[in-house]
Amino acid sequence: MTFSLHGQAVSGGIAIGRAHLVSHAILEVAQYQLRERDVPAELLRFDQAVAAAGAELHALRAEACVPGAPAELSAFVDLHSMILADPALTDGVRELIRERRCNAEWAMVQQMQLVVDQFDEFEDAYLRERKQDIVQVVERVLRVLLGKTRKLAKRKTTTDDDLIVVANDLSPADTIQFKSLKIGGFVTDLGGSTSHTAIVARSLAIPAVVGMQHARPLIQDDDLLIVDGTRGVLIVDPDIGVLQEYRLRKSELELERSKLKRLVSGRSRTLDGETVELQANIELPQDAERAREVGADGVGLFRTEYLFMNRDELPDEDEQFEAYRSVARALGGKPVTIRSLDIGADKEARALRNRAGNQAATNPALGLRAIRFCLAEPQLFLVQLRAILRASHYGKIRLLIPMLAQAQEIVQTLALIDLAKIQLRESRHKFDDGMEVGGMIEIPAAALSLGPFLRRLDFLSIGTNDLIQYTLAIDRTDGTVAHLYDPLHPAVLKLIAQTIQSAQRVAMPVAVCGEMAGDPKLTKLLLGMGLRQFSMHPAQLLEVKQQVMMADAAQLSLRVARLLKFDEPEKISELLEKL
Ligand code: PEP
Ligand code: MG
Repeated sequence: MTFSLHGQAVSGGIAIGRAHLVSHAILEVAQYQLRERDVPAELLRFDQAVAAAGAELHALRAEACVPGAPAELSAFVDLHSMILADPALTDGVRELIRERRCNAEWAMVQQMQLVVDQFDEFEDAYLRERKQDIVQVVERVLRVLLGKTRKLAKRKTTTDDDLIVVANDLSPADTIQFKSLKIGGFVTDLGGSTSHTAIVARSLAIPAVVGMQHARPLIQDDDLLIVDGTRGVLIVDPDIGVLQEYRLRKSELELERSKLKRLVSGRSRTLDGETVELQANIELPQDAERAREVGADGVGLFRTEYLFMNRDELPDEDEQFEAYRSVARALGGKPVTIRSLDIGADKEARALRNRAGNQAATNPALGLRAIRFCLAEPQLFLVQLRAILRASHYGKIRLLIPMLAQAQEIVQTLALIDLAKIQLRESRHKFDDGMEVGGMIEIPAAALSLGPFLRRLDFLSIGTNDLIQYTLAIDRTDGTVAHLYDPLHPAVLKLIAQTIQSAQRVAMPVAVCGEMAGDPKLTKLLLGMGLRQFSMHPAQLLEVKQQVMMADAAQLSLRVARLLKFDEPEKISELLEKL
């Protein structure tokens, strides 16, 4: 039966493909009592399901050996095969079927709970994490028991179809893994439009809709789905007419995207000759290649915290240095703005779990995150500072500090940078002594009290994602208040415009690196505020460039000055339309 669901459009485009469920609703199984004489058959049914799940893993093992398959695939297959073969899981299920005469699905979930609870007691974070793997193995067996085996050979999908992840929620750490897998799109029941999960979707340029609320319980594995990431719509089991219409729309979008490629070599200049720098936001070193392909003027934001995710050990100084140097080299002398670790709130790294502030805090976004955490952990911060400084010898590297609010934080950070330099001199490492240090303006207090930033730093970068969150008191990850997350709120616009103007008055470079910079509907507004440096995902850069090339900066400056005088949202939207 066809039906559609609506959520928040967070990453444009259209994906058509089969659902791949990654949440645990499958674990909500029915419980029923068996007759004594049915127990042997149930035991046999369970053993056959375990064998079938084992065969699935065996088949996956073969896929993992194909050249180019992600290394994680074979590690996960080995681990899951081991868990499946462990009698601690399966013997307990057999006993429950025999002794309590309960159905195999129910017994499996009960036994899983028992094992998983024991894992919670472990001191070692790595072992605690393995809980997830046990749950996934149990899900695999349950799928067989419930008759939901993925019959890949019989799937109705054509090779053009995408794999669409359907989840209750995804963390930024989950989503970043999609970079090495071939995921066509995703939908989640929770989440807000500038959560880092959404940001990673945009950086992958895959269609995504979040905050769907009921998608997960209503969708089954392998359902045919259309994700319209531009309108925020998910269509389940579409009829042939709708499917054809969307296939057509998808190819039109692809055509439009390929036409934009003509702009790669064009100069990013307004009609009246103002040069506008368009830089790239990246999460991993390999993203630098995409930045180059679209002709970015450099990297305006390298979110280094992604180097710290999905691993149990922290990256050491050499590993970080190699990562930063590889980006510097890939950009061939163009500026690379490396942001120091912005961990905390929705960005979690399990290797830091026992130290990074209070994960159970009521308001982690207001807690010991980003620079606050780095200053509380100076040894860890120094490792990163030394790695960034060492890389500065190989390109034009700039250091960007997130979440600054207090003058004292700037002073302490600069002192630690000096200390890192002393240590590098002692160890005879080369670095750029004049490496520029900038601050993110993403807390209203910083925007309203720019003096120390202008006096002590070399450049500013406005993080509109957090600036909106903190100005409007809207959790950027919370879908229930997402309708109130408004980049065009007059208070937000005033803070951005004032920051740009104050920086320009003292000739300090200022950029916007939040999501507003990559939204082509806002390009003229920001140009009119005087902005000349934008940093965004590579996938958005050419569309923004197109807007720049059609803009008259002088005229926009007058119109935007008028727009900023209004504080009625309707009037602001009306004037924005006219830009
Ligand atoms: C921002 O807050 O706007 C920003 C660019 O940083 P992040 O999204 O990583 O918090
Ligand atoms: Mg931020």
